[in-house]
Amino acid sequence: MITVNSNSIKRYSWQREAILGVLRSTGEHPTAEWVHQQIQAVIPNISLGTVYRNLQQLVDAGLIQAYQFGTGKMRYDANQSHHAHFICEQCGRVEDYAPESMSEHVAALMESVPRQINHAEIYLYGVCERCKKTRS
Ligand SMILES: [Zn+2]
Ligand SMILES: [Zn+2]
Repeated sequence: MITVNSNSIKRYSWQREAILGVLRSTGEHPTAEWVHQQIQAVIPNISLGTVYRNLQQLVDAGLIQAYQFGTGKMRYDANQSHHAHFICEQCGRVEDYAPESMSEHVAALMESVPRQINHAEIYLYGVCERCKKTRS
């Protein structure tokens, strides 16, 4: 017989909600470490491993996206609308980029490829405004 401790289920789903709230409050595409730092204001004793586990569950549930932008670490995004990403090659900053005509262009591109395309991602790599300023 399997006994389920309903208290622990409640606690875990509450933690997951809190983590989702942190992600929804930022457009910074943070790492798990950043989320861990922020969430400690709400859940002081939470471990980084628990944060990782909850983030993975949110990804599995389709509530957030996980990206490898080539910056070494997994980054998390609660923005569910279709958007391109701009990645600064100097500071690793990730910005959402969604010009109005983008979905038409992506649809046209996907149609032009004679394969079954299920999914498209657009990554733009360069130098962000902030880094451009400090360089000159
Ligand atoms: Zn930058
Ligand atoms: Zn994004």
